Amino acid sequence: MEIHLADAAKINKPLNTSEILENVGGGFELKVPVDAEFRIHQQAADVYSMSGSLKALAETACNRCGKLTPVVLEQHFKYVLRVEAEPDLSTEYQCSDEDCETLFLAESSLDSHEILREQILLAIPLRQLCNESCKGLCKKCGVNLNNKKCQCGEINENSPFAILKTLQQN
Ligand SMILES: [Zn+2]
Ligand SMILES: [Zn+2]
Repeated sequence: MEIHLADAAKINKPLNTSEILENVGGGFELKVPVDAEFRIHQQAADVYSMSGSLKALAETACNRCGKLTPVVLEQHFKYVLRVEAEPDLSTEYQCSDEDCETLFLAESSLDSHEILREQILLAIPLRQLCNESCKGLCKKCGVNLNNKKCQCGEINENSPFAILKTLQQN
């Protein structure tokens, strides 16, 4: 969606959009369009503040067993938008808090797609499990331990044989 900043600030209500994002990266596939809301306020002649939020349903591989796992991505964002052909970094109008980002724009409109793409990447969790108790794959034979038991782990760490096994390996 193309956002015309001056117009968006005038209507004084949130802009809603639903957009399909492809190839978001980070090993994620989005299953449905991203739903987002943008709010624009004018602060000065060429300065706008923008806040908003997004929500998307994605799918990613479990970090332990590799099973495709659904994950809901949610993100809130804040920007200060400055329409300046040549960014002047020394002037006022910077973001006041650290979650906020200053964007310099060549013209007073922007594509919501670019913002959503950037924010989706920030929303992606570093670690995703299919289940908190996922047993993962056996490091030796590669069997998915959630579905099957393999012979590799027969001697567990606490058994008196474990120390013997360690000795044999060395
Ligand atoms: Zn798993
Ligand atoms: Zn095994």
